[in-house]
Formats: sequence, structure tokens, C-alpha cells
Amino acid sequence: MLRALLFCLALLAACAAYAACALTQGQVVAGAERMYRERIAALDARSALDGDAAFLQRVRQLAQRLIQRAAADYPQTAGWTWDIHTTSDPEENAFCMAGGKILIGQRFATDLHLDDAELAMLISHEMQHAIQQHNLKEYQEALRIDPSWQQRPFEELEQAVDNDNALMRKLAAFNLAQEVEADREGMQLAWRAGWPAHGLANYFKKLARASASPNFDSRSHPAPARRWQAARELAHQLTVIKAD
Ligand SMILES: [Zn+2]
Repeated sequence: MLRALLFCLALLAACAAYAACALTQGQVVAGAERMYRERIAALDARSALDGDAAFLQRVRQLAQRLIQRAAADYPQTAGWTWDIHTTSDPEENAFCMAGGKILIGQRFATDLHLDDAELAMLISHEMQHAIQQHNLKEYQEALRIDPSWQQRPFEELEQAVDNDNALMRKLAAFNLAQEVEADREGMQLAWRAGWPAHGLANYFKKLARASASPNFDSRSHPAPARRWQAARELAHQLTVIKAD
């Protein structure tokens, strides 16, 4: 009996390291926390973290309003430890990892001359990736379309979804659909938090105008012109709702 129990425990321990065993949101959040800590520490080491106190404060204030609204609309987020940092690294646009780990690139925001509503739209879009559990769903999709990943450690899959070209090609359509969802749900979250819908949609107009190829999907995002059109239509619907 004891032997059987020990065997099971050993099996579970071995299993937990591999992607084959049912992946949990807790496992994904723990991985995201580890990767976020490493990214933040690397930026800090290069003096590229939170260098502009006014910009950091502005981002945190906007995010706080969205986080409060999210706690009401998505109760599962109420206990999250959100982390919000900014960076001067021009290579970083913006992201939010599982569990609410946000990084906003200052160059990206200032090059687009984002006002508060537009910056809130960007932050809300990123927050929705975490709220909608996009990391977990992406790993699950990767395991479904390429079961060979089940034999490999989860940490390798974490890296592969952002670096392995073959896997990224297979996930491209799935990822574009997640971006569309983050745009749509992000705008609605920010609108419920009090920003005017057309002000939020303006973020996408600026993205489209700044894009060298606004009518084409990139590897990671739908065509900026299409995002702007969808945002305009949604803003119109939300404004009609408010008027009713
Ligand atoms: Zn996104």
C-alpha cells in the first residue's frame, strides 16, 4: 500500500515537469511570474526600467482604474497581485502576462502621442490577455496541434511559443483571434471603467496611421486598418447602448 502510494507520488512529481500532464492556470501563472521577474531584472540591470517617474505614475493610475473595474467584472482577478512597470527599451511595446504582469514601453506610447484614453485602451487590451487566460489557451492549443510537445518540459514550450518559428506559424491564426478578442474585450472593459468609446477607438486610428502596411496582418497582430474599423464599429455600438 505504502509502496503504491510512493510510486504514485513519484509519478506525479515527474509528471508535473512535463507539458503532457493537464496544464493548469496555476502552473502558467507561476511560469509567467518567473519570466516577468527575469525580464524586469534584465531591464533594471540596463537602467531601462521605470526611468521616467511621471510616465510610470500615469500608467499606474490608468491601470488602477482598469484593475478596479476588472475586479468587479471578472471576480477571479480580484485577488491577483498585479505588477505594473514601464521601460525605455524601444524594442518593448507592451504586454501583460498571466496573472497580471504588465510592462508598457514608453517609446511606443510617446511615438504614438497617446492621450489618457488611448493609453488606457492599450493597457486594457494587454490586461485582457491575462483576464482571458490567453497564455494557458495558447499552450493548450500548441499541445493539441503538435502533441510531440507533450513529451518535453513545460519551460521549453513557454519559450517556444515566442521563439520557435515552426510552432509560431502553426499558432498564427489562433493568436490573431486572441488579439481580436483582447481588442474587443479591452475596449469594453475600459468603456465600463468610464472612458468614452470613441476616445478609446482613437488608439487604433493612431496605430493604423503610424503603420507602414496598415492593410496587412503582421505575424502577431491583425491588420491595423481592420482593428481600427472593428474598434470604430464597437465604439458606435457602445455609444448607442449608452444613449438608450
Ligand atoms: Zn495583444
